[in-house]
Amino acid sequence: MDTTLFEDIFTQDLAWQEMANCRGADQDLFFPERGASTRKAKAICGACTVKDDCLEFAITKGERFGIWGGMSERERRRIRRQRAITARQTG
Ligand code: SF4
Repeated sequence: MDTTLFEDIFTQDLAWQEMANCRGADQDLFFPERGASTRKAKAICGACTVKDDCLEFAITKGERFGIWGGMSERERRRIRRQRAITARQTG
């Protein structure tokens, strides 16, 4: 295994997390009870410069809970499903 590549990826992951707009925010906003509003969390994500990295991280890791990259699990699941369909169609 190329450990240099792994270390680069690890460093990049930390790098985007360092710029997260939700640092210091109430984490309960991002992991709301079922049926609770996600509006405030999504507003914070909307102003986040690493939103795309965050969303991709959550999709890749299969995060099942919380708001990541401005999207709920249901919204992320839709993207994963669409990607799977596209991957099947393109072979
Ligand atoms: S997109 Fe949202 S959850 Fe992700 S790092 Fe930014 S503020 Fe935090």
